[in-house]
This record gives sequence, C-alpha cells and structure tokens, in this order.
Amino acid sequence: MEIKTLQLGFFGVNCYILQFDAKCIIIDPGADGQKIIEYLESKRINPLMVVNTHGHYDHIGAVPEVAGQYEIPFYIHPLEKDTVTNPEINMSAAFGGSLFSISAYQLIDQNTKSRLSDLGLEIFHTPGHTPGSVTIKAGAYLFCGDLLFQGAVGRTDLPGGNLAEIKKSLTKIRKMDKNLNLYPGHGQQTVLGHELDANYYLSDDFLGKDQ
Ligand SMILES: [Zn+2]
Ligand SMILES: [Zn+2]
Repeated sequence: MEIKTLQLGFFGVNCYILQFDAKCIIIDPGADGQKIIEYLESKRINPLMVVNTHGHYDHIGAVPEVAGQYEIPFYIHPLEKDTVTNPEINMSAAFGGSLFSISAYQLIDQNTKSRLSDLGLEIFHTPGHTPGSVTIKAGAYLFCGDLLFQGAVGRTDLPGGNLAEIKKSLTKIRKMDKNLNLYPGHGQQTVLGHELDANYYLSDDFLGKDQ
C-alpha cells in the first residue's frame, strides 16, 4: 500500500489516497476536487470508494465531485448521517458561507467492512468529535480524522461533540501498538508512542488512570 497525502482547502484538511496497485480508496476529500482527480489521472489509479473519518464540511466538500466523477460510493458511519445531511451540523453554514449537504451516501455495514478487510483495512468507531467519527487502520497506519492530532485533540464543542465519548475513544487508541503511525485530519503525521509521551490528551491526567 502507498499513501499519498493531499492538503486541501482553506482548513488544510489531509485527504489521504491509499493506493493498492492500480486501485485506491480516498479518505476525506474535503476540498479541491480537481486536485484529487488530477492526481488520480496522473497516476492512472482507479478509486474504489470514498470512506470518511467524519462528515464535517472541511472533510466532505469535494465528495460529490470526486465520487460523481468516478461513480463510486461514499461511505460514512451510520451515526454520521445527520452530519453529512445537515449544514448546521456539518458546519458548512458556519464555515463555508454556503449551505452544503450530501444526499448520495452509504452507511458502513458488514459488507463494507468485509470489502475493506479484503484490502487489509479495519474500521473502528471512535466518537466524540462527532457521533459517527471513525478511525481507519491500514497495517501500521491509523487514519484518525479529527479525533487526535500531533500534540492536540479534536474539538468536542461543535454539534454532536461529546467530551466523555472522545475520552473513551482516546482510551481505545492509547492501548494500541505504540509503533502505529498516526495520520490525522489536519497537521503533521506522528507516531502513537510519541503522542503517548508528549500529548496531554492521552495522559492519565486527562483520561484517568485505570481505563
Ligand atoms: Zn471535524
Ligand atoms: Zn477537520
């Protein structure tokens, strides 16, 4: 698997293209659809699907353009339906200046999971930033969206955000292999072990000791 990171749009969202030979999946095509399409064309790779970590506007802005261009499905967690369909909840009303919602989406189910598992990918429900936030694991790589960043944590003060939930999700993450490479929704890539040492939001002080 090869990973291409495209930093897109005003919010600098990290769109990840996970390439498997001549095929790929796209995570969080948040803006600049043409840049994504140009990259795929230049490499002659065919996307199989779009899978999103969550449905905020900065992560879904180019979904219709990219999914439409290749006629591929767009997958979200079932609890993320309101986020992608409601401009107040996906923050496009607040951030984008225009109301944005997506009607063509599919909910991740057992079939989706087995399709992803054929590619060596696993999906974990990691709510807190939004109700249906997920983390996608591809071997030694963890695509965690806005759950966790280098030295920081996702906001829980937006619609659907929940501090207790994000603490539970972070507790799951901190039990994982320290060597995992974290690929967050914004900013730099990092390594879980480094964050365990340096990120307050993975500490006992924030999460409590016995979890
Ligand atoms: Zn977000
Ligand atoms: Zn974001």
